[in-house]
Amino acid sequence: MKDMMKQLKGDIRRTGFSMPEDVLGLGRGRTYFVRTYGCQANVRDGETLAGMLEQMQFTAAETQEEADVLIFNTCAVRRAAEEHVLGEIGNLKTLKRAHPDKIFALCGCMAQEEGIVDEIRRKYPQINLVFGTHNLAEFPELLKRVYEEEGQLIAVQSVPGEVVEGMPVERQRRHKAFVNIMYGCNKFCTYCIVPYTRGRERSRMMDAVLAEVRQFHAAGGREVTLLGQNVNAYGKDLQMADGFTDLLDAVAETGIDRIRFYTSHPRDYSSTTIDAMKRHENIMKSLHLPVQSGSDEVLRRMARGYTADSYRALFDDMKARIPEITFTTDLIVGFPGETDEQFEETLKLVDYCRFDSAFTFIYSPREGTPAARMEDTIPAEVKKQRLAVLNERITRYARENNEAYLSRELEVLCDGPSKKNGEVYAGYSRENKLVNFTGHNIAVGDLVRVKITDVKSYSLDGEAVQK
Ligand code: SF4
Repeated sequence: MKDMMKQLKGDIRRTGFSMPEDVLGLGRGRTYFVRTYGCQANVRDGETLAGMLEQMQFTAAETQEEADVLIFNTCAVRRAAEEHVLGEIGNLKTLKRAHPDKIFALCGCMAQEEGIVDEIRRKYPQINLVFGTHNLAEFPELLKRVYEEEGQLIAVQSVPGEVVEGMPVERQRRHKAFVNIMYGCNKFCTYCIVPYTRGRERSRMMDAVLAEVRQFHAAGGREVTLLGQNVNAYGKDLQMADGFTDLLDAVAETGIDRIRFYTSHPRDYSSTTIDAMKRHENIMKSLHLPVQSGSDEVLRRMARGYTADSYRALFDDMKARIPEITFTTDLIVGFPGETDEQFEETLKLVDYCRFDSAFTFIYSPREGTPAARMEDTIPAEVKKQRLAVLNERITRYARENNEAYLSRELEVLCDGPSKKNGEVYAGYSRENKLVNFTGHNIAVGDLVRVKITDVKSYSLDGEAVQK
């Protein structure tokens, strides 16, 4: 941790990407598959990898079994997710035996963990390439080396500090885009591994972000989600006084139909950002604001830098200024030493905020973080019970909040047929509600007026009233 803190100082290197000439034909006659786990930042990295592979003339495979190059783009936030990936790559042994020419690679946050890299070295010889989050731009050259050299290639840089512009991208969707505005995080919440795997906060230059949004909009794109581990800190490293608000204003002025952003940190939320959300019609009135706990003592041990009361005050301020805003959050139960009373305080905060939904988790210790060294005496059964009680409460409020939308008309951005029922369309409203709806001749990317006819806890049903 001390080493990581030292890296918060010093210049950030800004470079441009260029594809080496000698890799351009590497993918001719070959296919790829990128298997992405975890957060939107990883999804966006997966799109960059796909963009590079396409530039090298690889084509996308239908399934991972068919692919000549299979990449596991991993997440390290929870141990369970890591074990799942290790199980998956373990199963690749048979495939490798039958097809020794196939290339298997592992990247993303797991690749930044020393313990994981050692384990792969010792137990998973079928993995040809491991590359870290700070080595993404080198991927084409690394892949070329894998084709030329014997053995396992490990390329994990542990001193982050770069922003590389101009990397290719193959977006999963034409109507919605993830746009990175910054990388890394300086917050060092005691339970979180992200500052160690993604490095220090590095903002992209505003011009580069705006160019990406404009290009996407000009190609018919409707919605951008501005991405960062802590978007409210955007521009601090560029010495901008109120960087995120300035960026929001500028992105709104591009005229793109919808703007979302993810993730916010309550500690850095500025009042001017609320003004910008109010000022611009195309900034969506929904906010994901992770609180993690309602207990001041637990928040202190998590090093979150706010109290339950200051979170409530921020929540009240937003609701007062933007009454239609919807709120979602993240909550952890069973943080080391969390007492019954402290858990009750979390429930009280949930009763106060009545969130529209929440990602709820049992605390998962991550090796190398301060919280992993805290004494954890809470029995697993108690943690499970707390999670069940919390989930029941969250679901109740989600349903109650949704009832207010019955018979109302919402604007929905169509994502295509619903995954569960191909007979209906699915999309998200401006309030970030999942809406399943009937209608005719509706295309992906259409903005549709939908009348809500039924509500569930985590989705709404309706019918299109106009195209
Ligand atoms: S702000 Fe988010 S990403 Fe950063 S350390 Fe805290 S939980 Fe992790």
